[in-house]
Amino acid sequence: MIDSHIHADTRPFEDFEAMAVSGIREAVTCAHDPLEMLSSDVVMAHFRRILKVDPHRAALNGLKLHTALGVHPRAIPHDYMKVLEELPELLSDPSVVAVGEIGLDSGSETEMNVFIEQLRIADETDRRVIVHTPRSGKEEITPLIADLLSQHIDERRAVIEHVNMDVIPLLIESDFMLGLTVQPEKLTPQEAVQILKEYGTDRFVLNSDMSSSPSDPLSVPRTVHRMRISGFGEGDIMRVSEKNIRKFLKIKN
Ligand SMILES: [Zn+2]
Repeated sequence: MIDSHIHADTRPFEDFEAMAVSGIREAVTCAHDPLEMLSSDVVMAHFRRILKVDPHRAALNGLKLHTALGVHPRAIPHDYMKVLEELPELLSDPSVVAVGEIGLDSGSETEMNVFIEQLRIADETDRRVIVHTPRSGKEEITPLIADLLSQHIDERRAVIEHVNMDVIPLLIESDFMLGLTVQPEKLTPQEAVQILKEYGTDRFVLNSDMSSSPSDPLSVPRTVHRMRISGFGEGDIMRVSEKNIRKFLKIKN
């Protein structure tokens, strides 16, 4: 199994062992907003941590981490151009599999500028993008995010994260990959299973988005367990818990 979206820098060492014991072999750790990003230096220190420190902590527990780097919409420093100038070079690190997580949270003009700039970088450097959608205002902001994505990048190169029944009907006709975040304040495993029953497994990836918010490091295995009880076959289970994200991010087996 692969947990397709986590924030390893906020989690204790023991979580990685619990994940590995539960059958998660790999995870994608994404840049986010763990600190108040007062300047580009803070963002760069955060990038260094998720590139170097967390993959090592996870590897000691048998969990392989891949990295996504980008400026999260809640983590935009006043001098964000300095980060964007460095980003193409940083993306060349072999552990980096995507630009992310990027996107919109409040939908402000600055957020839009930073998002579009990073979509350009992803397009130029041939990277996939991991895209955040907000908790509040999801129904209003998600169509805006989808429009900006469609204007700037091939839809097949973006995963739109934290989707729920409010926005899936708007996105299901697109070519985006869709991330089901199973987390105490987002989807329960049962709700994720219900969505997969209704829409099939081709377009979805599972993740915990575990961070300092209420989280469950075992979201993916728990949802897989729930799928099995509900009668899903191994092909469907493999697709949402590993194959789709592996193919999407071009992660070798
Ligand atoms: Zn996240």
